[in-house]
Amino acid sequence: THSSAYRGRFAPTPSGPLHFGSLVAALGSFLDARAAGGEWYVRIEDIDPPRCPAGADDTILRQLERFGLEWDGTVMYQSRRDAAYAETLERLEQLDLVYPCSCSRKQWRDYPIYPGWCRTAVCDPRKPQAWRLRSDRGACPHQWTDRLFGVQNLDPEALGDVVLRRKDGLWAYQLAVVVDDGAQHITDVVRGVDLLDNTPWQRLLQHALGLPEPRYLHLPLIVTSEGQKLSKQNLAPALPEQPDRIRRLLVQALQALDQAPPAELAEADVATQLQWAISHWRVDALRPSPHRVQTTHAQE
Ligand code: GLU
Repeated sequence: THSSAYRGRFAPTPSGPLHFGSLVAALGSFLDARAAGGEWYVRIEDIDPPRCPAGADDTILRQLERFGLEWDGTVMYQSRRDAAYAETLERLEQLDLVYPCSCSRKQWRDYPIYPGWCRTAVCDPRKPQAWRLRSDRGACPHQWTDRLFGVQNLDPEALGDVVLRRKDGLWAYQLAVVVDDGAQHITDVVRGVDLLDNTPWQRLLQHALGLPEPRYLHLPLIVTSEGQKLSKQNLAPALPEQPDRIRRLLVQALQALDQAPPAELAEADVATQLQWAISHWRVDALRPSPHRVQTTHAQE
């Protein structure tokens, strides 16, 4: 039997429609899962409602469908996972791995990371409190290996006591992602390299909660011709809807993943393109250097 044990996921924040950068992340995780005969899930990371316009989740799902990226099972929504996050924070509290913190960014602006003042006692209990992770505890081995970026050795303490629950009561990404990767039994995390430096916190949390450690493959950054990360902030255009433009863009996404698609693949339909990409998927073809695109080009 093939390795149906593989479980991957794409976990977009629905702050707007997918652009070329997010397409590359979705495609990379999809191909890695399907090439392994594995399952691929979609999780909508809508924990920050003010940042998520109504309907953006649906837009993303329709975009994935148009690009032939069919997911397994039902879509998980982080906005419906409050109970699981609350339970986990409670457990972390029992483990003495989190503490409430009333400090404002302004108070520690002269420090590179939050200096941990509230670790021993909340400095102002009358003020709203966030919950922070104790990055100096958890006894998690610092060393791990990314499938593309190789051996990593960052001490979470050097990154600081990250917020797991915000002062306004919203859950933070680091907590939600670990709880949900655990709940969905994700074996393989494939995502953009901009999240590589978040991984030490996530590993620490997995370790503390007794969750299995997934394998990690961080994908090269997609940058504009000026070298900026593609994002809504720098006006990366939404993905096209016309079939011919979708086909061309899918080939460009394969190029961004260094998969060397043959020229004639640009004329094939999406299903054929994906079939080729799954059967030819090679992680060892990936290069870690940023991939430059002309934002406007990426649409044409
Ligand atoms: N929701 C995150 C994002 O859109 C990705 C989370 C992940 O893949 O771990 O950037």
